[in-house]
Amino acid sequence: MTVLSIDKVSKRYGKVQALDQVSVEASSGMRTAVVGPSGSGKTTLLRMIAGFETPDSGSVSVGGEVLADAHRSMPAHLRGIGIVAQDGALFPHLTVADNIGFGIPRGDRERTERVLSLLEMVELEPGMLTRRPHQLSGGQQQRVALARALACRPRLMLLDEPFSALDTGLRENMRKTVARVLQAAGVTTILVTHDQEEALSFADRLVVMREGRVVQAGTPQDLYFHPNDRATALFMGDAVLLPAIAKGSVAACALGNVPIVGEHKGKVEIMLRPEQIRIATDGSQQDNTGQVVDVEFSGATSTIAVALNGVALPPIRIKTSSVALPAPGAYVRLDVAEKAHVLE
Ligand code: ADP
Ligand code: MG
Repeated sequence: MTVLSIDKVSKRYGKVQALDQVSVEASSGMRTAVVGPSGSGKTTLLRMIAGFETPDSGSVSVGGEVLADAHRSMPAHLRGIGIVAQDGALFPHLTVADNIGFGIPRGDRERTERVLSLLEMVELEPGMLTRRPHQLSGGQQQRVALARALACRPRLMLLDEPFSALDTGLRENMRKTVARVLQAAGVTTILVTHDQEEALSFADRLVVMREGRVVQAGTPQDLYFHPNDRATALFMGDAVLLPAIAKGSVAACALGNVPIVGEHKGKVEIMLRPEQIRIATDGSQQDNTGQVVDVEFSGATSTIAVALNGVALPPIRIKTSSVALPAPGAYVRLDVAEKAHVLE
């Protein structure tokens, strides 16, 4: 069932077209990540859903009900939508208990019980209830913000870069916790982030934005392995891009004859993710694809730069396990482990 439906929404600020005919749908219980570089319109889109902005044209519907279009806009507090902002935005003078219980009427007999169960849900100790926001770590503040947003039993949850202020290790941990909590609560969620790794690991579905437009939508695997264009390919992760001549389901390139997804003909550009290329064997002087020019060790995996034979291209960078690394200067033969993707 479709919970959120954004239909051709546009929004302009002076000369800036912040949103240009944006359409997004989110199904019940799903986690959708809206991802794109800074300035692509992500926050504007989220504020539009929340009710802090009104569309110039197009419409925003939740649960089949139009909440906003060019003529009307339901006030934010009536929309039944929860929001967690980048900095958590807790009320600084209120305790954790009162922050979480903010949206629950004071006279409600189940208030204390509900606050406690929300606290437990976000994995905080009951001892935290009497603390104030400044007595909490960044991660704890985000947990309280999430509990507060869940307290109103929202039909939709909006997260605007909620992990970006946290340290790397904590960020991953929080991402998993938040995904688990939202899954358990069964809340449909829209996450906005400029971090493609975060989007890939958090969401069931990705919507990629650029310059106010949706350029592609799909599963994390779709976006990572089958981006529509070069810009999305590079935005979603490290990519090896090679000119090739396609003939049917094979393309001839500097890596040899490589199988490709679909059928193509003539000059194309193919894309492989660095981990899709394997160092097959140490090549001999006669039988090799190129020469190792650099080895970058980074623990479990390493990045190996290989200058390919017979092409005036910068060395390609391959990711591999750090076991049995070739040395700089070695001749190697490269094997493509999966079908290459042909860019538009
Ligand atoms: P993102 O969240 O992807 O970084 P934003 O939605 O914040 O992008 O902004 C999209 C574009 O709209 C940017 O060029 C930004 O400067 C502009 N913009 C956003 N809000 C306003 C506003 N209230 N007034 C003027 N310009 C704005
Ligand atoms: Mg933003």
